[in-house]
Amino acid sequence: MNDLCGVFGIYSKDKKDISKIIYYGLYALQHRGQVSAGIAINNNGYIDYHKDLGLANEVLTKEILNRLRGNIGIGHIRSGNTVETTTANAEPLVAGYKQGALALAYDGSLVNYSELREKMEDKGVIFQSSIDTEIVANLVARHHREDIEQAIIKAVNDIKGSYAFVIMTNDRLIGVRDPYGLKPLCIGKLENDYIISSETCALDTIGAEFIRDVEPGEMVVIIDGDIKSIRTKEVKNKNMCLFEIIYFARPDSKLDGESIYLLRREAGRNLAKECPAEGDIVISAPDSGTVAAIGYAEESKIPYDEGLIKNRYVGRTFIQPTQELREIGVRIKLNVLKENVEGKKVILVDDSIVRGTTMRRIVAMLKNAGAKKVHVRIAAPPVKYPCNLGMHTPKRENLIAGQKTNEEIREIIGADSLCYLSLEGLLESVGKNNSYCTGCFSGEYPINEDL
Ligand code: SF4
Repeated sequence: MNDLCGVFGIYSKDKKDISKIIYYGLYALQHRGQVSAGIAINNNGYIDYHKDLGLANEVLTKEILNRLRGNIGIGHIRSGNTVETTTANAEPLVAGYKQGALALAYDGSLVNYSELREKMEDKGVIFQSSIDTEIVANLVARHHREDIEQAIIKAVNDIKGSYAFVIMTNDRLIGVRDPYGLKPLCIGKLENDYIISSETCALDTIGAEFIRDVEPGEMVVIIDGDIKSIRTKEVKNKNMCLFEIIYFARPDSKLDGESIYLLRREAGRNLAKECPAEGDIVISAPDSGTVAAIGYAEESKIPYDEGLIKNRYVGRTFIQPTQELREIGVRIKLNVLKENVEGKKVILVDDSIVRGTTMRRIVAMLKNAGAKKVHVRIAAPPVKYPCNLGMHTPKRENLIAGQKTNEEIREIIGADSLCYLSLEGLLESVGKNNSYCTGCFSGEYPINEDL
């Protein structure tokens, strides 16, 4: 039970005040969620924190950042598809256990959440939220006789699912990544300070140097200014979430050594080879389709230009929590650049069609603005299956490609033609050095085995 999230942590050897650095890190990760934000800071063994519903710049005001002082800190931002939008579900989660205070920030989703929660509730454990993080905190607390590193190893042996999380104690910062590497997590350095972040774009933003990715099944512990690596679980097969590559991550990030920008551009090139169309202009559904549209234009030799202008101050419609908000979100999010599409055969490139609502509206807007034809090209295969590993796409009955044929979808969205990149084409674009989970396209999940 969790949503797409962004996590960030810093250990400052020089005992800098770090709340502002975390704030800028979260700001760079804001695309991973717009529902809640929070920071927890360790000040000489006492953990102070602030979290609430809203964007990072709404929740973390100057006054709050001035109050949160210390040398170890973590931050979190959340999207809101799955768990209730309440302050109780905002993170970091700060908890006291027998060995002291802990703060946790989590990205991912536990598939055995309900089972673990029921067992704990049977033993009298009281929960204050519905987030996976509270389960992890309870599991760590249960092993209080062990040192914190052993307690975390024991805790992750009980959980099944996708995870990348940071934990702060009164003397260390810890980052943990699931054994399949479904979720991204990387390490950076800013002078003498170590950083752990969901994506490298946050390292760039704060001027930190990228050191390396946290390996699948690895725990990194930063204490006394040094970093050590501990294996938590055996890695069987690396399976980075393919949706991170095509949609979630920022194009200026590198995940597991691969530039998201280059992978998306390659997917756009392959899309042009597999799905040619007669057009005057290639445009994108901003922002997630933009890089693939550039690749499509390069390969097809049809010029790329702007056709839809995005209001950048509106969150991603797909991530908005309710259907009502999603509808409003689409209307206020995009406007057509009539000058570029009127009287033209438009090739519209996007990264995915999930429910179809947004695409139907965009095609209608383009036609209303005078586009002669609208050919929709998708730089990924149809999303036919739900995900339980972190993305929480809608149930199969709400996934348009889970219910309809391509021709039916074309008709529903009102396009003149519709074509998707094949799974082989997508894997050829992205799969040269890594292997990926393809569950929402193929229905085959790594979790089916023994995660
Ligand atoms: S099923 Fe899809 S969204 Fe879920 S982890 Fe796999 S690729 Fe990512």
